Amino acid sequence: MITVLKSIIWGVIVLVWLTFPLSAAARGHVLVIDPAHGGKDTGVKLSRTVYEKDVTLAVATLVKKALSNVDDIKVRLTRSDDRDVSLAQRKKILEGSDADLFVSLHVNAGFGQKAEGYEVYYLGATIPSAQNDNSGEILKDMEQTERLNNSVLLAQIVHKEIGIVFPRQGRGLRDAPVLLLQSLTTPAILLEVGFSTDIEGRKKLKDTEIQKSVADALAKSAKKYFSTGGTS
Ligand SMILES: [Zn+2]
Repeated sequence: MITVLKSIIWGVIVLVWLTFPLSAAARGHVLVIDPAHGGKDTGVKLSRTVYEKDVTLAVATLVKKALSNVDDIKVRLTRSDDRDVSLAQRKKILEGSDADLFVSLHVNAGFGQKAEGYEVYYLGATIPSAQNDNSGEILKDMEQTERLNNSVLLAQIVHKEIGIVFPRQGRGLRDAPVLLLQSLTTPAILLEVGFSTDIEGRKKLKDTEIQKSVADALAKSAKKYFSTGGTS
């Protein structure tokens, strides 16, 4: 009996030892897409029936679909239907996903009808602690620098790829203290894909073909990011 038990235990150990490196390799990269707003929180209005929450969900769903046949990139969404998800819940989903990359999707609104185009935000400034000689702090600074570099790399790639869908509509990369991006350890960007207040822009954002092109551009960006050295 003891011998049987022993061989079972050894069998399990060998199995775990054999499969662990495999599963780590097979895990691939995890991209979390955050379709902003949802439920009662509609976001900005694009028409009588279409809101920001609908556009962000449509694009996010299409990104997931576009990458469904890419084995080494797994896509998770912070919501996959029309529901309220708090900022804290979104962060929790991200943290629980072991994510390598995070993209939050929004639609902008301007004060007038003149503002048009897309913007890519990243969280730049980190509090410098150069005077601090604590090695733990230095390590934290290095991690933050790496996260920042990777966020900028992703922002550059996304800005370029979305520019193919919306030529000459790029409003640039913007370093801003975006609340959702704060305290994240994952390289992250926030894409304001267009303006609801721009008549032409909102027409495009409601167009399912354009939504598909934006999603494809994001899918291509993720592939480029992971193949050009972006790490988590
Ligand atoms: Zn928004």
